[in-house]
Amino acid sequence: MGGYIIVIHFVWEDFLKIAREELGSRVVETWFKAVSMSRWDGIEKVIYLQTPNAFICNWLEKNYRSFFQTHLGRLLNVADPKVQFLTTSSKKEEVIVKEISEKSSEKNSKAPQVKTYRAAQVIPYGSKNVTHTKVFERYGYINKKYVFETFVVGPSNSLAYAAACAVAQKPGELYNPLFIYGGSGLGKTHLLHAIGNAIQEKNQKAIVLYQTADRFVNEFINAIRFDKIDRFQKKYQLVDVLLIDDIQFISNKDTTQEAFFHIFNSLYDARKQIVFSSDTFPQNINGIAERLRSRLASGMIADIHQPCIEVKMAILKRKAESSGEILSDEVAHFLATHVTSNIRELEGALIRVIAFAHLTKEPIDLSLVKKVFSHEEQLVKDSVDFRSVIKAISKHFPYSLDELRSENRNKELVLARQITMYMMKKKTNSSLREIGAYLGDRNHTTVKHALEKIEHYINEDAALQRHINAIEKEFEH
Ligand code: ADP
Ligand code: MG
Repeated sequence: MGGYIIVIHFVWEDFLKIAREELGSRVVETWFKAVSMSRWDGIEKVIYLQTPNAFICNWLEKNYRSFFQTHLGRLLNVADPKVQFLTTSSKKEEVIVKEISEKSSEKNSKAPQVKTYRAAQVIPYGSKNVTHTKVFERYGYINKKYVFETFVVGPSNSLAYAAACAVAQKPGELYNPLFIYGGSGLGKTHLLHAIGNAIQEKNQKAIVLYQTADRFVNEFINAIRFDKIDRFQKKYQLVDVLLIDDIQFISNKDTTQEAFFHIFNSLYDARKQIVFSSDTFPQNINGIAERLRSRLASGMIADIHQPCIEVKMAILKRKAESSGEILSDEVAHFLATHVTSNIRELEGALIRVIAFAHLTKEPIDLSLVKKVFSHEEQLVKDSVDFRSVIKAISKHFPYSLDELRSENRNKELVLARQITMYMMKKKTNSSLREIGAYLGDRNHTTVKHALEKIEHYINEDAALQRHINAIEKEFEH
């Protein structure tokens, strides 16, 4: 049973990753993040998806049903599964949603349509002229939407912003490489594209390549598989500016690192600008060769922190304005204090509020925002928090929270720590990163590794399985 749930977790996480690639992270944060996969009925082939309220349920149903079917089906290895959206909403709300769906089916203009969205959001680099069209096929994309002008600067990101501007002004001359690090959703990708756009604007001929590290890894593996290594290397050697997003994904991929190391060196020697982003400081990226690590850290390193309330409010107002809406201070303040995790989620919340206002034709005021949030908070409350997990664990293991958080590698303690991570993933709505951060600032890959371990143990070891079932009983009341 436990193993089964963990499998669902991984399927769901893989699904979100694909959705991010296919539909963009905005769609994922806005519509999919509040959803969870609650059950998979392998006999009837039904996927049950829990949604926080009838409004989101209805929206997903209308716009993304076939996307869920195709990709979850593929991940679960079945053709044409059924998708059942569940909601815990009240009857009253369902009436509103019915009205909404009638209205919106007449004029479905606000619905993000799967096919057109991608084309509108991702604009190929230099798509206007012929040679650049070729380049577009071979190189990654620069998203024209992410520019310096729309980036709100505050104390949390001013260093990274200034460094990015300097690099865009004088590529290859000032800070090379530039390494930007910070938590998820705080603007790293935005800055990378902004650098690309600014350089491109000044010099149409410059070849700017944006690539995420995991796509780089895939590309490299395919190049080996299809014997296209020469082409692969040539492609990277031709670029003037290389923007590599989420470089931490290169960890533990030794051969890819080797290839990347050579590409890096030849670009660096030719004084081409290289920019990296990462979720951690170079020294803290696990599983990369020392010489690559020191290359990454050899230029300028700039971090981005969590923004303060004022910056969050400014971002919200700016984003609302670009959708033709004005936010009052009151509403912006409410959103900025209620959404605490990151800017991506802040944007997602704003988009939901705007969509709700459009569909119900109500003005965006505090009462509307509270209405949208009351459903979502209910979902969060339904899940358990970290402290309850620690409490349950402490009844079964003789360790304190400090010990669970410590570096101590005592065998029993390590197992207790891994089980804690497993329970947190299973019982709370938290991400691997949040769990890692809570348990002694550990990396999300450490948490992932722990989940895999426990899942493996559960299948092998009936005693452990019983022990875990007993811990789970603590949550039933
Ligand atoms: P990361 O790559 O760090 O995970 P992103 O660059 O994807 O984060 O940012 C998430 C969203 O938040 C994007 O839509 C981005 O435009 C927006 N964003 C982040 N920081 C800012 C900022 N300072 N001003 C305006 N928008 C921002
Ligand atoms: Mg990013």
